[in-house]
Amino acid sequence: MLAVQGDFLEHKHALGRLGVDAPEVRLPEQLEGLEGLIIPGGESTTMVHLIDTYGLRGPLREKAASGMPVWGTCAGMILLADGLTDSRPEPLGLMDIEVSRNAFGRQIDSFEERIDFEGVEGPPVVAVFIRAPVVNRTGEAARVLARVSDGRAVAVRQGLMLATSFHPELTGDLRVHELFLRMVKGLA
Ligand code: GLN
Repeated sequence: MLAVQGDFLEHKHALGRLGVDAPEVRLPEQLEGLEGLIIPGGESTTMVHLIDTYGLRGPLREKAASGMPVWGTCAGMILLADGLTDSRPEPLGLMDIEVSRNAFGRQIDSFEERIDFEGVEGPPVVAVFIRAPVVNRTGEAARVLARVSDGRAVAVRQGLMLATSFHPELTGDLRVHELFLRMVKGLA
C-alpha cells in the first residue's frame, strides 16, 4: 500500500480479509521486495507532493517499469495517468491514458452505480464515485474494463497496471481486489 495519504487503511482491511498483509510504503526503501502496489484514493495533489518530498517518484516508476503490478483507485488513477486535462498535479505517467479530475462534480455529487466490469465474474460491481476522475483517452496498449451508463470509461488496464476511478475498498465486495491479486500472481 502506498500510504503517504488517502484511504490506504480501507484497502489494507480489504486485503486482510483476503489473507494478505500489505505493508505500508512511505519511503523508497520500503518498495524493495514488493510484489504489487496499490495507490489509494485521496487527494492527488497532496499525494504527488508527498511522493516527491519522500523521493518516491523515481523508484516507484522504476519498480513499475520492471514489472511490478500497480493498481490506482480514484486519486491513484490520476497518479497513474500520463496526461491530465488539469494543470495539476504532475502525474507519475505509468499508463497511456488521459484523465480528467473531478469529472462528475463535487463531493456532494458523489454517487453509486452498478457497472459491468470485464474480468470480474458474477453480478455487476457497485461502484462508489467520490469526486471521481474519468478516462478521456486510452492509448493502444490500454483496455477499458468498465464504463458508467453514459459511456465514460472508469476502469482501465494496461499490462500489469490497473486503474479504477471508483472505490472497491469501500463496499465490502472484494472481487476487484481479487482481480488485482490474480494479476500480482500472474494469473490474470
Ligand atoms: N478529486 C480527488 C483528486 O483530484 C480524488 C478523489 C478521490 O480519490 N476520492 O485528487
